[in-house]
Amino acid sequence: MLPLKIVVIGGGAAGFFGAIATAQVNPDAQVTLVEASRQPLAKVRISGGGRCNVTHACFEAQRLVQNYPRGGKALLGAFTRFQAQDTIAWFATQGVKLKTEADGRMFPITDNSETIVECLMNEAHAAGVELIIGTPVVAVKRNTQTAGFEIVLKSKEILQCDRLLLATGSSIAGYKIAQDLGHHIEPPVPSLFTFNIADPKLRALAGISVNPVKLRLSINSKPQLEQTGALLITHWGLSGPSVLKLSAWGARVLHDSRYQAKLLINWLPDFQLEQVRQNILAVKAEWGRRPIALHRGVDLPHRLWQYILTRVGITTEDRWAELPNKMLNKLLAELTQGEYSISGKGAFKEEFVTCGGVNLKEVNFKTMESKLVPGLYFAGEILDIDGVTGGFNFQSAWTTAYLAGSAMGTSSVGASSVTN
Ligand SMILES: Cc1cc2nc3c(=O)[nH]c(=O)nc-3n(C[C@H](O)[C@H](O)[C@H](O)COP(=O)(O)OP(=O)(O)OC[C@H]3O[C@@H](n4cnc5c(N)ncnc54)[C@H](O)[C@@H]3O)c2cc1C
Repeated sequence: MLPLKIVVIGGGAAGFFGAIATAQVNPDAQVTLVEASRQPLAKVRISGGGRCNVTHACFEAQRLVQNYPRGGKALLGAFTRFQAQDTIAWFATQGVKLKTEADGRMFPITDNSETIVECLMNEAHAAGVELIIGTPVVAVKRNTQTAGFEIVLKSKEILQCDRLLLATGSSIAGYKIAQDLGHHIEPPVPSLFTFNIADPKLRALAGISVNPVKLRLSINSKPQLEQTGALLITHWGLSGPSVLKLSAWGARVLHDSRYQAKLLINWLPDFQLEQVRQNILAVKAEWGRRPIALHRGVDLPHRLWQYILTRVGITTEDRWAELPNKMLNKLLAELTQGEYSISGKGAFKEEFVTCGGVNLKEVNFKTMESKLVPGLYFAGEILDIDGVTGGFNFQSAWTTAYLAGSAMGTSSVGASSVTN
């Protein structure tokens, strides 16, 4: 009997992890990985600012899935089979130790993404994966005679295989292959971005961060989503974990609104409005003759306080004693629900992902096999799955790739037939 022929399209995190898993579970299988560019694992190399945030120290499937604006429900079962703890153990077996930072993000102890790239390259080599690089796949056809696939390379060469893993990330070419095979693609739109705010006075505060703030997104006067966390003022607007999370959860509605939205900022989410009022009134009573700009009643950076006052119309000379109640209420509103206009989407170079991809209802999450095309498997960002920042995107790539690889290599699993 001829060995099982498996082709993996895409040499990113998911493609490599899937190819290794399948070659390890079935050492007799012939595993070929085809990568379009000359540099496999390019995103791993640049990930996490060159350090590669491999995963997140979150070891309960129920909690882990809460970090995925899209795909969390589908991943729940998958994470019971392969989760962050398994990722740590897998890399440890290859001699790569990971460390956890205070916020839960996990990196190789070398702080160098090259460690992960080398590890995956070496393991693929050791497991006998054949690597074809610099060779885009232009089409995939089903071979009705063998129930396998014909992979058409740009060079016009055709590869035959019994099972196929599509791990082409967010590439249009990959979506098209999936579509041509009968799958539906949720329209791809960006996720994990910063907010542009066209206010020079705010931008002048670049570098100031406040933790926590509570953000509320509102589009066409309809409240949409909330996030609480750290906020960073930048040269183009707002960034920081709270903004990135909001951008991920709101990726689709923000795209549909052409990134025009209202953002309500509560600068003091740890306090009830009445508490803030009492604090301000206490300062007013104690410092009545002093300028409001110099004696703030709340714990916010001085320059930010002054900026908030200008938004309300309080000048640097205005004194507490002269502050009418109407202005005091305006100040309270500004502190707890200041309204900002999002005028566009910025870039977040540390981690950037695509929302959208292969419709999850069409995939069996026990094996990652297509429910429409026996023998076809999916892993990584090609799926309509994306996570917030913190290592969650790689974790979904490792998990889906491991499940796909293990299932593809095991001849008793999946509905596909095997050519002889
Ligand atoms: C700058 C940046 C930093 C990031 N940092 C982190 C991080 O620290 N932690 C984290 O969890 N996530 C991070 N991410 C997200 C993470 O990189 C992705 O979620 C992950 O790489 C997805 O892996 P993948 O294998 O599915 O896709 P990809 O890594 O995109 O790999 C897909 C591969 O398929 C190839 N391909 C596409 N079409 C074809 C074709 N037709 N024929 C052959 N090959 C093809 C591509 O060339 C590519 O190599 C980051 C993303 C960016 C952009």
